[in-house]
Amino acid sequence: MKEKRQLLDDLNTLWKDTCTCALRSTATGPVFGHGSADAEVVFIGEAPGEKEDREGVPFIGRAGTYLTELLGSIKYDRSHVYITNSVKYRPPKNRDPLPEEKEACREWLYGELNIIAPKLIVLLGRHALWNFFPGMSIGEAHGKVLTADIPGITTTHFLPLYHPASAIYNRKLREVIAEDISRIPNILVGVKTSGRK
Ligand code: URA
Repeated sequence: MKEKRQLLDDLNTLWKDTCTCALRSTATGPVFGHGSADAEVVFIGEAPGEKEDREGVPFIGRAGTYLTELLGSIKYDRSHVYITNSVKYRPPKNRDPLPEEKEACREWLYGELNIIAPKLIVLLGRHALWNFFPGMSIGEAHGKVLTADIPGITTTHFLPLYHPASAIYNRKLREVIAEDISRIPNILVGVKTSGRK
């Protein structure tokens, strides 16, 4: 059987040539998910920004530096988790991705999730949240574990967080996001002992 890493590489090779996302025409190229193929926790963001587009790695700009710092606060290293985006191409001037752009990248995202089969999916911001829970308020959902059987993916546990970019310059939100992320290790223990996938 192929290793998960090889399966992810094959998936990216396939989708980079076949993805119908309109953002392909304006972005430098796709930004693949990054990190461990065996990760127990996957983080999903919104879309690559300028630096990510230039260098082809997710979350390496200001929001990424802050996310890395938050991961450090729970003794997680980027190489032990997997970080990806709802859409794989940078929207022009970092505008919000459109519903049809997210739809075009959805199978690619689901493919990553099904290869890795993480115990917990952390949803960074409302765009990531709405992939699985359309219309849900991030203000109400952040920090709460959501369990759901989503058609097309095997993981059943989700943790919405505010997007790191929204919290960088907002002291109140920084406290909230730090508190929410500090719960991940315990949540993971709970998921593993719950008997669900
Ligand atoms: N960088 C990313 O890769 N994704 C985001 O959602 C924000 C910044």
